[in-house]
Amino acid sequence: MDFAPSPRAADLATRVRAFVDTEIEPVEPAVLRDVAARRARGEDTWPPPTVVADLQAKARRHGLWNLFLPAGHGDAYAARFGTDGGTGLSNTDYAAVAEQTGRSALAPLVFNCNAPDTGNMEVLLRYGSPEQQQEWLEPLLDGRVRSAFLMTEPGVASSDATNMRATAALDGDDVVLDGRKWWSTGAGHPDCKVGVFMGLTDPTASRHRQHSMVLVPLEAPGVKVERLLTALGQYDEPLGHGEVSLTAVRLPRTAILAGPGRASEIAQGRLGPGRVHHCMRLIGLAEKSLELACERSTSRVAFGKPIADLGGNRERLARARIAINQSRLLVLHAAWKLDTVGIEGAQSEVSEIKAAVPQMACDVIDLAIQLHGGGGMSDDFPLAAAYAGARSLRLADGPDEVHLGVVARILLRPYAARAAATGELASHGVTR
Ligand SMILES: Cc1cc2nc3c(=O)[nH]c(=O)nc-3n(C[C@H](O)[C@H](O)[C@H](O)COP(=O)(O)OP(=O)(O)OC[C@H]3O[C@@H](n4cnc5c(N)ncnc54)[C@H](O)[C@@H]3O)c2cc1C
Repeated sequence: MDFAPSPRAADLATRVRAFVDTEIEPVEPAVLRDVAARRARGEDTWPPPTVVADLQAKARRHGLWNLFLPAGHGDAYAARFGTDGGTGLSNTDYAAVAEQTGRSALAPLVFNCNAPDTGNMEVLLRYGSPEQQQEWLEPLLDGRVRSAFLMTEPGVASSDATNMRATAALDGDDVVLDGRKWWSTGAGHPDCKVGVFMGLTDPTASRHRQHSMVLVPLEAPGVKVERLLTALGQYDEPLGHGEVSLTAVRLPRTAILAGPGRASEIAQGRLGPGRVHHCMRLIGLAEKSLELACERSTSRVAFGKPIADLGGNRERLARARIAINQSRLLVLHAAWKLDTVGIEGAQSEVSEIKAAVPQMACDVIDLAIQLHGGGGMSDDFPLAAAYAGARSLRLADGPDEVHLGVVARILLRPYAARAAATGELASHGVTR
């Protein structure tokens, strides 16, 4: 196993880190204050401040744009749309870069590497027709539009993707969408023009062939963003999380990705690399939070000692250090498996990181908040927002429990098969 980033990836990670430190972090508090001030004045908080577009243009000029594009099938676009070096990165290489983008809430958007756009672009790369790629992938890569992923529904337990009830019904040369989605991240952005919608097409087909994914323009008649949800009190501007209704939305069949009934297969392909991206960003966020905890606890004195030296704080900080390093190795291992054997062979590893890393990040950020005292709960430090983001990722892209279920299923499969073969279960009246 070799997790070392290539020289090119190491250079990109260094440059991304420098850009985050010198260009993004200094303006981030002002961006947050601007949103808060607009909210207080009752103004529209969704258009991002102009500095975001300025930073995007600068990142692009520096070749730090679309770095998520995968090696191999993303190469042609990497050459056209600004990626430094002109080819895409492997998952292992991009992991080193993603860690640096995770240090700031704004950074992924500045580098055009934010969820859900990256996952949607990967879907278009892998499964989009040339026409779909021209209509949606190219403007997304160019940063002219943004996108949302419309899977989760308020009415059904959506951790089981086969539960989705919204429909994508075939009607002659058309497909007609009906239903209600929520937690559609990205739907608040004024440039959000397209959603990847998952709907039921054929309830009589086998369980994993019933649903389709359809590209739906958000300006199509019958699509309405009903409201924007808060996550632990945060609207997460400028992307946001929409509740979206779709009423008799009629589109040509050519809007279906890869053909009817392929949604499960597409979701599988979409989420492998996306989970590595999420987890590596969380490593960066945990690392940043630990830095803040160390600075605060060594520079503030209580009961005659630096806070770091009180109670069990040194050990707690040391355990946070260990937990981040363990998680980084786990994520790099999953990225390396994706690179070497593909998603089919890396299912356990991808679910392992998705179950472990958001919880680790929550624990480290929680420690940092605690060591900051009351300040840690305020918006004077980025920790409260960081906690909300990490906590959300214990649910988004599947709750912890579902991922633990995948790990357990793969772990137990050979044992269960052996027990079944020896008739041990049957002799105890267990049917499974
Ligand atoms: C900030 C945020 C952003 C999101 N962005 C998007 C997005 O862009 N697009 C999108 O489609 N969705 C998005 N989601 C939704 C997210 O993917 C779902 O909330 C998640 O899949 C769970 O579905 P649910 O909310 O219906 O919970 P349910 O399916 O009702 O599950 C509730 C709980 O039941 C338990 N449970 C479920 N299954 C099992 C199991 N197998 N074993 C044990 N316990 C279990 C778990 O505790 C789980 O949390 C986002 C969510 C958040 C919070």
